[in-house]
Amino acid sequence: MLTCGLLLVAAGCATYNSATGRNEVIFISTSQEVSAGHQIHGELSKKHKILKGTDEAARLERIGQKVARVSDRQDIEYQFNLIESDEINAFTVPGGHIYFYTGLFRQLNTDDQIAAVLGHEIGHSAAKHVVKKFQAALGYNVARNVVVNLLALKAPGLGNVAGMGADGLMTLASSSYGRQDEYEADRLGIKYLHLSGYDVNGMIQILTLLQAQDKGGKGGLVFLRTHPFAKDRVVAAQKTIDEVKKKY
Ligand SMILES: [Zn+2]
Repeated sequence: MLTCGLLLVAAGCATYNSATGRNEVIFISTSQEVSAGHQIHGELSKKHKILKGTDEAARLERIGQKVARVSDRQDIEYQFNLIESDEINAFTVPGGHIYFYTGLFRQLNTDDQIAAVLGHEIGHSAAKHVVKKFQAALGYNVARNVVVNLLALKAPGLGNVAGMGADGLMTLASSSYGRQDEYEADRLGIKYLHLSGYDVNGMIQILTLLQAQDKGGKGGLVFLRTHPFAKDRVVAAQKTIDEVKKKY
């Protein structure tokens, strides 16, 4: 039965992810992920003004690369893009493309705070949260391709993920993460802040800032809609800071 075969194959395909500390089944290869990321970046570049060659863009790139160097995930090239927009948000698409809106960037006072947002987003990438959303959406069809390919002893080429089309991929990439994914990205962000020499309290500061803005009733804060639970996250982040300082 396909289901049994799938379970067996799935168990056999699991690989250890040092970011999450778990064995995980990832059907989408890094090269497929990078290719999907290119497509999405192309679409985003058409729709948004991405600042290049400015002091702000250089600052974002400098901080981003410093944090990325300590990421658990080093099989992709991280790219940091500053989008000219009032939106208070930052987000990650597959393949290491990370986006930061000037609306959020200009509210942050220190490199530590910028590094905290970037650490969180790099955490999503390292934990492959976006890829997992893709897998959940593609689910059965992709899984079935893996089984068919393995049974036929072919190289596990999984069909074209990017065949979904850039718009579909983008919609998926920008859909909300689960609560656990957000906590995991915070935890990884704190670890990366610490390992790259930034102040881990930057994470507490940005979470508190988001919480305060939420209370202020300004509304429409996309960062909060996609990154909810600010209050609980402050508490959890403080606990992680204590753990990370002991461990590393
Ligand atoms: Zn997040």
